[in-house]
Order: sequence, then C-alpha cells, then structure tokens
Amino acid sequence: MNSPAIDLLHVLEKWDNGKDFIPLHEPVFNGNEEAYVSNCIQSGWVSSVGSYVDLFEKKIAEYVNAKHAIVTVNGTSALHICLVALDIDHRHEVLLPSLTFVATANAIAYSGAMPHFCDSSEKDLGICSTKLDAYLSEISIMNDKGQCINKNTQKHIKAIIPMHCLGHPTDMESLSSVCQKYNIEIIEDAAESLGSKIGNAHTGTFGRLGAISFNGNKIITTGGGGAVVTDDAILAKNIKHLTTTAKTSKEGFFHHDQIGYNYRMPNLNAALGCAQIEKIEDRIAQKRLIAEQYLREISGIDGLNFIPEPEGTRSNYWLCSARFNHYEDLKEALECTNKNKIMTRPLWNLLHTLPMYAHCPSSNLDNAQKLVRSVISLPSTINLTMKNEA
Ligand SMILES: *Cc1c(COP(=O)(O)O)cnc(C)c1O
Repeated sequence: MNSPAIDLLHVLEKWDNGKDFIPLHEPVFNGNEEAYVSNCIQSGWVSSVGSYVDLFEKKIAEYVNAKHAIVTVNGTSALHICLVALDIDHRHEVLLPSLTFVATANAIAYSGAMPHFCDSSEKDLGICSTKLDAYLSEISIMNDKGQCINKNTQKHIKAIIPMHCLGHPTDMESLSSVCQKYNIEIIEDAAESLGSKIGNAHTGTFGRLGAISFNGNKIITTGGGGAVVTDDAILAKNIKHLTTTAKTSKEGFFHHDQIGYNYRMPNLNAALGCAQIEKIEDRIAQKRLIAEQYLREISGIDGLNFIPEPEGTRSNYWLCSARFNHYEDLKEALECTNKNKIMTRPLWNLLHTLPMYAHCPSSNLDNAQKLVRSVISLPSTINLTMKNEA
C-alpha cells in the first residue's frame, strides 16, 4: 500500500496546465487587462491620479457591498493604515493569530503597537473565539474607561486582526460577540479571502475595517496592491487622506496637516484590477470546481483529509488545502511533490517563533501548532484541468 503522500502525488499528477511545472498559484489574465492597461499608458495617467483608481475603488466597494473602498500599494499598507486610522500606537496591544502570513504582525509592529498572539480553530483555521474568550477572561481586566487591559503588561488591548485563512471565512459571529464583551475593535485581514462570504455578507465587512490584497499570488491581482473597505464614512475619508501624504492646500501652496503615507495605488495597477474584478465570480466558480475535484480524489486516501469550507459560508478556495494525520506524511508529501515539479507548501511558521516576535505575549497555541504540522496547500490556479477529463 502507498503512503498517503504518494497517493496525493498521484492525484496531483492528473492535473494539466499545459506546462511541465505546476505552480501553487499563478496570475491569469483572460479579460480586458491589456486593453485597460494600454489605455492607461496612452492617456499618460499611469501614476497616483487617474480614472481607473476611482473606478476600481467603486467596483471593489460594490462587489463586497461596503460603502467605501480605498486602494493602496499593497495589502500590508492597507492593514497598517487601518491601525493608524484607529489611533493605535505604542500604548496598545493588538491580537492576531500566530498562524498567519508575517504581514499581519508586521503591520502591527509598524504602528508601534505590540502584537499579541492567539490560537486558531482546527475547523476554519482562523482565530478560535472560545479559546480567546477564556484567555481574555484570565489575563485581562476592564478598566473604568471600559478598556480591556492586559494584567501582565498593563497595556490596552485595543484591537484584533482576525485572518480568513487560505480563503475560508473565520467565524465572525462568535468572534464579534467576544470582542463586544471586551470592547475590542475588529480589523479583518481579508487579504486572501476576496469573494468569500458568511451567509450573504463578504469577509472584510464584519469589522470596522477590512484589508484586502491584490498581490500576484492572490485570487485577483493588480501586480501589487491592496484595499481597505469600510462602511464608516469618517474613517474612509481619513484613510484616503492618510494614504495620499495627508495633502491639503493652503492659499494655493502644498500643505500637509499630519504625517501622511504614500500608500496610494497607481492608476496602472488599478487598470489591471478593473479588468480582473470583472471576472471574479467566474474565477470563484472555477476554484470551487477544483475544490470539488480535490474533495472527491482525496476522500479515497487514508490519512489525508481535504479541508472544506466551514458550514454556512462560501469560501473562495484561494488555496485548496488538506490535512495529514501524521507529520511524517506531510514532510514526505512536500518533498515528493516539489521534486516532481508540482508545487505544494506547508502553512507559515508560527509568527511567535520568528526572532522579531519571540518576545510578544501569546496564549496557548496548541491548535496552531498541530495545524502547521499537518496542513498542505495544493495547486489551485484556475487554469488546471484533470487530464482524464480533458
Ligand atoms: C498576502 C497577505 C497579506 C499582505 O498582502 P501584500 O499585498 O502582499 O502586502 C497580508 N495578510 C495575509 C494573510 C496575506 O496572505
């Protein structure tokens, strides 16, 4: 009998993308990309001002059903500007999963606040709100201003950044009720989950602010780019101001009324984004077909389980993933697939183990540790077809 790793390799060998290497995820341009980008070049408006920027913001807001969207140079800057806009700084701690991409913690560090790590759920791979509630009740007290104070550090735990892992929505309902209890603001890291929904509501629209990424490896791309989405008009206006170097005009001269950031997405990138977002629902439909095929193929493998979307949600299945029963099998699978030019990858090394975040406070992280030693992400580009079905 084969090991589950070899069985998985045989499943992955059925994929065809017309090339001899199957990447984990690559950008696909099958719409108006060239037309919009060349239009942009011909117009001369390639930089920080232009009609595609406004149009792309409008399209994102419409798509996720948020009142406002502000586009930025990348997802990390989108997260950072959310923290700045909520006045988060060195006086504060910000909760986040240890199991996320490093950018989530970096954005907190840029703001001056202290990252504070919490555990994940084995079901949806996002923050486990039950464990979070128990943890906060143990380590924090509410002060007379209604602020949640970490008893060990005396710092105000002001916000949390849940992350919708690999496209699967985190349970925002439970998380929101815990956050309400402790008066903690929610900024969603929806970098990976554009198009994912809980019921009819898009990820990114449950917190005060949500951040999206359009990096080259995400479900749609602008080359590099990000966006903040929110229903709060005042925050939206402030974020637009902050991302455009806080520019005002005073008696006709350039004026800046605070330390701003040059975080605005260039028009050239927005042109690409306008073309990409036109096809996002087609993409998600194709992703879901790939997920179905994985579910079917992997269900026959002992010791390996596909990770389906959480109940009551629609995942964008950005990176289809599966879970081994044994760490040894994960290691074998990573080795034999990549050696055979089929790219797979494990989750991220937990952030509290990285040198610059090793000193940060954290809860018990048992679930996250188990997930890192069992989950494998699989090729998930929409150009994949199964050889025997072509
Ligand atoms: C991609 C990603 C980001 C950052 O996005 P960039 O556009 O690469 O800066 C942040 N958080 C998560 C979870 C991501 O996957």
